Amino acid sequence: MRAWAVVANEQPLQEIELPTPQPQGTEVLLETTHCGVCHSDIHIWEGRYDLGGGRVMNLKDRGLTLPIAMGHEIVGRVVKLGPDAKGVKVGDLRIVFPWVGCGHCAACQAEEDNMCLTPRSLGVYRNGGYGTHVIAPHPRHLVDPGTIDPAVAATYACSGITVYSAIRKLMPIAPDEPIVLVGAGGLGLNAVEILKALKHRNIVVVDISAEKRAAAERAGATATVDGTGEGATQRIVAACGGQPLAIIDLVNGTATARFAFEALRKGGKLIQVGLFGGELSLPLPLMAIRALTVRGSYVGNPKELRELVALAQDGGLKPLPVELVPQREANAALMRLRAGHVTGRLILRAEAA
Ligand SMILES: [Zn+2]
Ligand SMILES: [Zn+2]
Repeated sequence: MRAWAVVANEQPLQEIELPTPQPQGTEVLLETTHCGVCHSDIHIWEGRYDLGGGRVMNLKDRGLTLPIAMGHEIVGRVVKLGPDAKGVKVGDLRIVFPWVGCGHCAACQAEEDNMCLTPRSLGVYRNGGYGTHVIAPHPRHLVDPGTIDPAVAATYACSGITVYSAIRKLMPIAPDEPIVLVGAGGLGLNAVEILKALKHRNIVVVDISAEKRAAAERAGATATVDGTGEGATQRIVAACGGQPLAIIDLVNGTATARFAFEALRKGGKLIQVGLFGGELSLPLPLMAIRALTVRGSYVGNPKELRELVALAQDGGLKPLPVELVPQREANAALMRLRAGHVTGRLILRAEAA
C-alpha cells in the first residue's frame, strides 16, 4: 500500500510504500476512497499539544510512533475480511469509526471505545486514511453511509460525532434556549447544521473572523458575535438576551475558555471540545455558588456515529461544504488548513474512488 505519511514531525508528508495489512480475526481491510483533513492532524504532524504555561504534551510520550499515515475521517470500500468478521461483504462502502480502543475492556464492550484507556485510534496510533488501505478492528466500527455523499459522510467520523456528542451532553435543553458555539470553522458549521436538524431554534456563534461569522449566518445561526479582544463576554450575553445556560467551546484556548466561563448563567454548562491549547484558572467559590459544569468532550462513540448518520439519512442534515483534493496532494492540503485558508472541509479523494 501507499501512504502519504508523517516521517518526521513538522516535515512535509512523504509518499512511502508499506506492506498492505492482512485482516486477522474480526478485522476488515478497506481501500480508502475519501478522507477528511482535520485540524487535529496538524497537532499530530507537529507531535505535540500546548498545555499552557509553557508546558507541552508530546505525542511520542503517548505512544505515537512514526512514520504514521494520519487521517481519521475515513470512508472506504471493503476489500478483505478476517475469518471472524461478519456483517459486511467485499465491495461495501463504509464510514470507518476511527476512535477504537483495546476491544476488550468495559468501555469498548459498551461501545464507548473513545473512552478506552489504551486507544488505538486510526490515523493517530494506527495508520489511517492518508494511505490507500486501512484496517478496521471490527465490523461494528463500520457504518453504511447509504445515500449520503461519501465525501460528506467521511466528516461525520470526527467533526460530525465530535459536535454531536458535545451537543448530546447539553441535552435536554428547550429549543428556544440559546446554545452558544465558540468557533465557526468546520466543527462550528457542522454544529449549526446538527442543531437545526435536532430542531433547535436559538444558535449563537462566536468567532474572531468576519468571514467565518458570515458563513455561520448563511448556515442559519440566530446571531453571531465577534470574539476579538475586550468585551467578548458582554457581547455574548447581549446576543443571548441574558447569560446563556449552554456553551460549546470548539476552539478551547485561553481567551475563549475565559469568556465562555464568565458568560455562563447559574447552573450553566460549558462543554470543552477544541484543542487549540492554553489553560483556564477557575475561581473555585464561583464553581460551587453558581453550580457550574465544565466538562470535556472527546470525539464520540459508534452509537453516536450511527445516530448521526441516521439523522443525515433522513435528509434533515444539510451537508457542510467540502472540497475534494487528490489524496497524493495530502501535504498541500494539510498546509492550506494550517495557514487557515479553508472554510468547510478538505477531503482527500483516492485514485481508487
Ligand atoms: Zn478530527
Ligand atoms: Zn478498551
